[in-house]
Amino acid sequence: MAPKKKIAVMTSGGDSPGMNPAVRAVVRMTIHMGCDAYCVYEGYEGLVQGGDFIRKMEWDDVRGWLSEGGTLIGTARCMAFYERPGRLTAAKNMILSDIDALIICGGDGSLTGADKFRSEWPSLLEELVGNGELTAAQVKPHQHLNIVGLVGSIDNDLTGTDATIGCYSALARICEMVDYIEATASSHSRAFVIEVMGRHCGWLALMAGVATGADFVFIPERPREHDWKEDMADVVRRHRKLGKRKTIVIVAEGARDKNGTKITAEEIKKLLADKSEGGLALDTRITTLGHVQRGGTAVAYDRMLATLQGVEAVKAVLDATPETETPFIAINENKIVRKPLMQAVAETKKLAEAVDSKDFEKAMSLRDSEFEDQWNSYILTTNVMMGDKILPEQDRMKIGFINVGAPAGGMNAAVRAAVAYCVSRGHEPIAIHNGFAGFSRHHGDDPLGSVRTFDWLEVDGWASKGGSEIGTNRELPGESGMESIANLIEEYRLDALFLVGGFEAFHSISQMRKARDQYPSLCIPMTLLPATISNNVPGTEYSLGSDTCLNELVNYCDKIKQSASATRRRVFVIETQGGRSGYIATLSGLDVGASAVYIPEEGISLEMLNADVNHLKNVFKNDKGQSRAGRLILVNEKASKVYNAKLIADIIREEAHDRFESRESIPGHVQQGGVPSPMDRCRAVRLAIKCIQHLETFGTNAHNHVKKDPNSTTVIGIQGSEVVFTPMKELEETGTDWPNRRPKVAHWMALSEVVNILGGRPDYPKPE
Ligand code: ATP
Repeated sequence: MAPKKKIAVMTSGGDSPGMNPAVRAVVRMTIHMGCDAYCVYEGYEGLVQGGDFIRKMEWDDVRGWLSEGGTLIGTARCMAFYERPGRLTAAKNMILSDIDALIICGGDGSLTGADKFRSEWPSLLEELVGNGELTAAQVKPHQHLNIVGLVGSIDNDLTGTDATIGCYSALARICEMVDYIEATASSHSRAFVIEVMGRHCGWLALMAGVATGADFVFIPERPREHDWKEDMADVVRRHRKLGKRKTIVIVAEGARDKNGTKITAEEIKKLLADKSEGGLALDTRITTLGHVQRGGTAVAYDRMLATLQGVEAVKAVLDATPETETPFIAINENKIVRKPLMQAVAETKKLAEAVDSKDFEKAMSLRDSEFEDQWNSYILTTNVMMGDKILPEQDRMKIGFINVGAPAGGMNAAVRAAVAYCVSRGHEPIAIHNGFAGFSRHHGDDPLGSVRTFDWLEVDGWASKGGSEIGTNRELPGESGMESIANLIEEYRLDALFLVGGFEAFHSISQMRKARDQYPSLCIPMTLLPATISNNVPGTEYSLGSDTCLNELVNYCDKIKQSASATRRRVFVIETQGGRSGYIATLSGLDVGASAVYIPEEGISLEMLNADVNHLKNVFKNDKGQSRAGRLILVNEKASKVYNAKLIADIIREEAHDRFESRESIPGHVQQGGVPSPMDRCRAVRLAIKCIQHLETFGTNAHNHVKKDPNSTTVIGIQGSEVVFTPMKELEETGTDWPNRRPKVAHWMALSEVVNILGGRPDYPKPE
């Protein structure tokens, strides 16, 4: 039998939320794969110091780490590691501890150091043997250093990955602060300049601008082409003229002008507050967010990212051969991938150099496509009424906006962005209130009617609003009356329909598509932007609102878990929403470390409950009181017709024979969330604009050719690493499990296995 591999993990550079979940995943996956897990404490400093800084880890050592902020194994900036003698000592310590592989979670600096270490490795061994510090026999089993990188950084500054571990948590902190500031800014009609982190990378500033609908943002990669002072004054003046009572400017700490000169918050403030003739004369304050951006527990997305990347890193270590190029684990849209580390580090360096040498085109090209997309979205939605993007009269469309189904976080942000885009192009965005029910019951010229043209100022404050401002309804067009809907489309001379909603919205487009033969006025292009917490719309792996819901569930579960810290021996059975899709139950199980997750796709059997109860008995038997909190089981509301959360909790309590306790807990509508998460808001903006751009391709008076074009009824979705429009017909016929109201293939099913592995759940008999 091959000797057990010893895999070490360390965190390095600036701490970021999600580092602990990454360490937990690496440690547990390593043990699951039959290897020994080690942690190197205090980053490279621990590697250089050796001894007690390199410690073996057991399964229970990382319990509860999903919800801990910062890094529990410490991090440090280590000067010694920059120099070869430091790296020589580090190599010696690795060999003395018999470590075969090192997984490093850190920023570009840490990963550069890692790559240097690996490339020097053979010569370091030679030197250690040559100078007598180690013997040839000691170094023989360690000829190849196996390294894998995990990108942990709040800045999201490494090229090649859409997100780094921690960036969405930092963004959440920033947006929360900006939301607070907006309330006071609006009350006093003030301007605020908010400085956020990002020396070379403007991701945080840009995304915060997109998510909050800030008036102006400054990022290092893309200075304004004209004089920024004039540009900013123009935009702010225009927004104030339209009636805005607040002005928010977000500036990345590394922002520069086109000449490469740093732009400071102080300078911006001076301009906004300028009381001289023609000046803006706004009461202006500066808020520098500083270290709060790093703080706190990781958001749901970062926990998922860290966990999946940790698992993938261990797999990459075990797959590696001496010839394998050092990888890092990246995410592109929704797909976890291995990529060459050195290339990413080299491109990140090039990017910083491009910014320094004022080659901003190159800098932008080195960022991921999503970054440029978001920049364009931002410009389009804030620079409305500039007139430079406006279409000729005959190409301007009348586009109906409708929300269908239950409210979901990001619906309003999507409507806001799409309205702003329409206005910038000269289209007429029409609000249809209260779904198809509201539409069909609308009559004539009612001044308070449910159909009217949107006003930009009205929607401008919707970026961070939860719920659905135009109202939503579950009724399908077939129930509301297809004929009256067809007539209204004709009466209002709508050229296209933009739907935002969940499975009912999907079903609605399907019904309208099928009714086109009977009602020719339904032959207009229609597209759906999926928005539902259940994330069960065919054609996409992600629906708006699902991230907000996961964050609500994660917060809820963290609190519940902690509430058991006094009694300790308690299992909570938490019922989640999600209809017949186990997505949110599984993902929240992944994010909070559930002992078991019950989902409709699998069902629940007595054997399964039996196995899980026995597992819990074992866990509590072996727990000598070291665990600080309770255990969680998540059960989807439709996982079983009989075994609901209460019954499962009762069964566990009965079987526990007073050795531990059990309670059920139902968060209910809390799961829809209050303020939508920044991810939902940012994706809403980007996808909504793509939807209107897609509808635009059909132009006005498209009735004749639309009917035959499968792309005239579509769903926009994130599939793997791409954003795609899929024709409804294709999805209806091959992609939809209609009785269960979900896609035929659940893209996330493989994650169930990860939840079970990392939760230590034993193999259980699956129901037939
Ligand atoms: P952040 O993005 O938060 O700044 P980072 O990983 O880039 O994180 P750094 O301070 O640049 O943070 O790097 C962390 C540590 O990695 C350094 O203290 C040093 O020990 C090591 N390191 C960084 N760059 C190199 C390098 N070029 N060669 C060797 N070691 C390096």
